[in-house]
Amino acid sequence: MESPPPFSSPRRRNGLGTGRILQTTFSVAIVLATLFTCITPSFFSLFDLRQLLARIQNSEVVVDSQAVPTSQRMVRIGIVAGHWGNDSGSVCDNGTTEVEVNLSIASLVQQKLTAQGFQVDLLQEFDPRLDGYQAAVLLSIHNDSCADYGTEATGFKVAAAVGSRDQNLTARLVACLYDRYQRVTGLPFHTGSITLDMTEYHAFDEIGPNTSAAIIETGFLNMDFEILTQRPDLIADGIVAGILCYVNVESVEATPPLNP
Ligand SMILES: [Zn+2]
Repeated sequence: MESPPPFSSPRRRNGLGTGRILQTTFSVAIVLATLFTCITPSFFSLFDLRQLLARIQNSEVVVDSQAVPTSQRMVRIGIVAGHWGNDSGSVCDNGTTEVEVNLSIASLVQQKLTAQGFQVDLLQEFDPRLDGYQAAVLLSIHNDSCADYGTEATGFKVAAAVGSRDQNLTARLVACLYDRYQRVTGLPFHTGSITLDMTEYHAFDEIGPNTSAAIIETGFLNMDFEILTQRPDLIADGIVAGILCYVNVESVEATPPLNP
């Protein structure tokens, strides 16, 4: 990604007092609240921002605010490589499996976010760590069928849990992924085909209630085979940009209805 995020150079907890933690929290809240109200006055309220900050800080290692800038904090992010450790997912005629494409992309996303200072867990489809999982974001990466559905079968889909505790935050996560992934990869959004497999994805019921979660189908293994398998770096960049948009509270437009 072109611009370094504010979360870098993670440090370990070093026995600071409650006052410093509060000071850190308060300072970050003021800065982000100011930015937030300047950029997106209508889409998300300050109440949403406070919840997002609290959630991000729940998953971080707190640092001494007098020793390092308040932005140098470690934020946990979970990436599920769809079907990994369980089954192959879709299988193409040429032998390519969905799971290998998912794992290739998910591994790149992990590397890119780790390089920017995030604490990233690469998770299997039914990873035991998903039970009660606490993080700023959990994103599951899948791909759509190899079957030949004609020229309609191109593009990505993204969905969040229907029954998530905080609909504003999950809507913001989806908006960030929708906007940034589309911009970076050039792939269109595939409308009208979000299934219950996505909105009722099993991990949504397993993770901690304060973890914002979504699932993305990064493309169709038929029409989009080339970009998915030959340019996984670009696909991963699109996902990373979406996650950074969310955790850095970047400005983003509200997502249009995704499944009309
Ligand atoms: Zn899948």
